[in-house]
Amino acid sequence: MAAAAAAKIAEVRETTRVERIGAHSHIRGLGLDDSLEARHVSQGMVGQVSARRAVGIVLQMVRDGRIAGRAVLLAGQPGTGKTAIATALAAALGHDTPFTSMAGSEIYSLEMSKTEAITQAFRKSIGVRIKEESEIIEGEVVEVQIERPATGVGTKVGKLILKTTDMETVYDLGGKMIDSILKEKVQSGDFFSCIRFTRPFMSTDCKITRLGRSFARARDYDATGQQTRFVQCPEGELQKRKEVVHTVTLHEIDVINSRTHGFLALFSGDTGEIKPEVREQINGKVAEWREEGKAEIIPGVLFIDEVHMLDIECFSFLNRALENEMSPIVIMATNRGITKIRGTTYKSPHGIPLDLLDRTIIVPTQPYDEKELREILRQVYSNLCSATPYYPSIRCEEEDCQMSDNALAVLTRICKETSLRYGMQLIMTSSLIARKRKAHEVEVEDIKRAYQLFFDEGRSVQFLREYQQEFMFNDVDDKDDMEM
Ligand code: ATP
Repeated sequence: MAAAAAAKIAEVRETTRVERIGAHSHIRGLGLDDSLEARHVSQGMVGQVSARRAVGIVLQMVRDGRIAGRAVLLAGQPGTGKTAIATALAAALGHDTPFTSMAGSEIYSLEMSKTEAITQAFRKSIGVRIKEESEIIEGEVVEVQIERPATGVGTKVGKLILKTTDMETVYDLGGKMIDSILKEKVQSGDFFSCIRFTRPFMSTDCKITRLGRSFARARDYDATGQQTRFVQCPEGELQKRKEVVHTVTLHEIDVINSRTHGFLALFSGDTGEIKPEVREQINGKVAEWREEGKAEIIPGVLFIDEVHMLDIECFSFLNRALENEMSPIVIMATNRGITKIRGTTYKSPHGIPLDLLDRTIIVPTQPYDEKELREILRQVYSNLCSATPYYPSIRCEEEDCQMSDNALAVLTRICKETSLRYGMQLIMTSSLIARKRKAHEVEVEDIKRAYQLFFDEGRSVQFLREYQQEFMFNDVDDKDDMEM
């Protein structure tokens, strides 16, 4: 019996460990000490000390929550850790501060305009911390009626009548926002066991839980913050009074209150365009809540990778959006030098218009030296081993990485001559090769084998040059340079 239970627990543990290993899985934070100085190797991050320190200051700005609309540009050659640093910042911020990551190319979607895509990304990066107060009263609901159907944000929705075994309560829903699920349940006359109108975030936090015949009914407040008519309840049934704090994003509030989509769109991601009127109403409501001390704004971070993929319209929209006091801190990254601004014939540094660059603080990232490359590879390898328990032959602890020193040296050299990313690919492939020969350590021969099997970009170009005539649609003549 106990053994079976233990096996079950082990099984559950194994399941929770099956996480896919991504390019940045080894990164757990920015690796800063208490005074925000970057440790050389910490939390999976290696080197790039001054860029990490600079982003540490941004982290402090975000935590203070006072500064909106700043733009930071991480600029550096490919593979110098720009995305890694942004990932580390997201990890350091924690769950309560919104962090949104997008690639510049993501705005070119058929489903929404470019400016709508940017607006949604902005609003996903602004959190609203809402305080909710409620009293829970126990009882039993026997009938629920609504006098007039609810129709959406800020509209008069009539009266909600709750009949319980011992009392009848009439809630005036005038001016109250109410979500579509609640509407449906109420209109279908369905009994429900728990209704929570929370203050001030009524529409999105109505909870309906069917718990058979026992139920808890919340006495709450209307949109103006006034308590609705208090209903006496039998002695001893007043359960508890509590304050709950929720953090949601402005985008989530938009979607929930957008009549065409409803909150289920949050799960499918299929939110489409949101009407400007809805956003205006939400902004107004949030401003009211802030004034009344019921809610507070948490500016988060929007990370736009490959920002040179945005075009001139997006840049000018971005420029204006940054001026809004509800703007998040925007971190952009690019590996481009002086190049054309998309949608124009003009060139500018990083392909970003000068007026936007002017309001941006630029953080450069530097290429890695051999020692740093070696350490990054070691971090990536350690993470691979600890994240893949089905690799007993190459399992290792962080301090005790089972890749021979020679193999790590060869891999570092390969990175130096090709790229860090290619070297990282070889880690996985050479580990599999070592495993196939039932070895306990990845050796030089495994790296060599992987190197022969899988080409890097340079050798692929070389191969194409030698055998281009054999390929279909070969448009490059011998003298042409290949642009990658
Ligand atoms: P690109 O300009 O091509 O987008 P990038 O500068 O964003 O490149 P990354 O994708 O961050 O580069 O880095 C390439 C790989 O190296 C990633 O897997 C990343 O996690 C890892 N890496 C880069 N720098 C560091 C670092 N300082 N510490 C740990 N890992 C790093």
